Amino acid sequence: MTHRATALRYVGRFAPSPTGPLHAGSLLAALASWLDAAHHGGDWLLRVEDIDYARSRDQWRQAFGPDLARFGMRPAQTPILQSQRLGLYDEALDRLSASGLLFRCACTRRELAAEGEPCCLRDCRKLKLAPRESALRADLTSLSAVTVMDRSLGRIAFHPTQHRDVVVRRRDGIISYQLAVVIDDALQGVTDVVRGADLLPSTAWQLALQQALGLPSVRYLHLPVLTEADGSKLAKSRHAAPITEAEVIPALRKSLHWLRQEPVSPETTQPDEFLRRAALSWDPTRFAGLSEIAIED
Ligand SMILES: [Zn+2]
Repeated sequence: MTHRATALRYVGRFAPSPTGPLHAGSLLAALASWLDAAHHGGDWLLRVEDIDYARSRDQWRQAFGPDLARFGMRPAQTPILQSQRLGLYDEALDRLSASGLLFRCACTRRELAAEGEPCCLRDCRKLKLAPRESALRADLTSLSAVTVMDRSLGRIAFHPTQHRDVVVRRRDGIISYQLAVVIDDALQGVTDVVRGADLLPSTAWQLALQQALGLPSVRYLHLPVLTEADGSKLAKSRHAAPITEAEVIPALRKSLHWLRQEPVSPETTQPDEFLRRAALSWDPTRFAGLSEIAIED
């Protein structure tokens, strides 16, 4: 293994799921990840997380590239679709299996929900015979504890006695979000993950899977999640990203405002110029510690 003398070049990404059109919340995440990459002189990639077939829709799968381009955001490489990378995830499963970490868990979603527990509830680890319908989990109890500092929300810790195991392939055969994310981030050379704070709880499991698979760690910046004015979950249908050209700059201005950033001068009317200016003054410490932002109507 070679050690690099210099810091790795920044590579960031936006990784939406094609379950609906771009909306105020996903536009905010796209913009923040783009600005953070540009501010650091790095590359910004687009990855469509479409392996949850039941929820993904063809009409949205191909829409993100053109939609984001209207806002001036263009990925440095051809966007990747997770649905075309299933072989890579299977290889990762093979490696976890070779390390003796995989076991089949027959606990049902209902049982797990009733206990409010993401880890296996029973002694599925000891089952010799695989139940016909079962999720595949990675046993994390032999791993070392890991702590990283999120750039906004502080300490994130993986602890093997608390985060005992993680689903890597769901009962329905679909590769878990946690596994696909760590594989893709590593293979795409991602150094910086900028995403919504709703994904903060996932991070501990991703730290564990990086360790289990010998993958590099990344820096994290979790963004405040937009909520309705009363603090309730954002009604995405009410906040679809604008379609017309005239609405693009106002939508970008609004996102910057929600992120507590310095406004871009009012004369700026082109998305590319707007982004360039916003990247110069980009300062994530302005929203440090915020996990939610209630948006005004
Ligand atoms: Zn179980």
